[in-house]
Formats: sequence, C-alpha cells, structure tokens
Amino acid sequence: MSQSSPPASRASTVQDRFTAARTSLTATQVAVGTALVAGLLFLLVFAGEPAVHESLHDARHAAGIICH
Ligand SMILES: [Zn+2]
Repeated sequence: MSQSSPPASRASTVQDRFTAARTSLTATQVAVGTALVAGLLFLLVFAGEPAVHESLHDARHAAGIICH
C-alpha cells in the first residue's frame, strides 16, 4: 500500500470543478426553490385564509355547531 495519495491531479481538478459546479447549482436551486415555496406559502396564506376559514366554518356547521 504505497499509493496513499492519488497521482492524477488532473482528474482531481476536474472532480473539484464538478463538485464546485454541483454545489453552486444546488445552492442556486435551493435558493430558487426556497423562494418559490416561500412565495407559494405567502400566496396560499393570503389567498387561502378565507377559504380555510370557510372550510373550518363549514366543518363547524357540519359538526353541529351553529355560530350565526
Ligand atoms: Zn356559521
């Protein structure tokens, strides 16, 4: 066992580049995905709040609780 370090520095560089590109791509994708999810959640919270309220209201009435 005399090969403790890899002699192929070129492959290592290519791999490093691949790793760097992959990392940056993943980071960008994560950032975009996070922004998309945040925007969707924002939209859902703002546009879906009345719907959620209404569905809860309907469920309440279905359960026999009359509030009005
Ligand atoms: Zn009601």
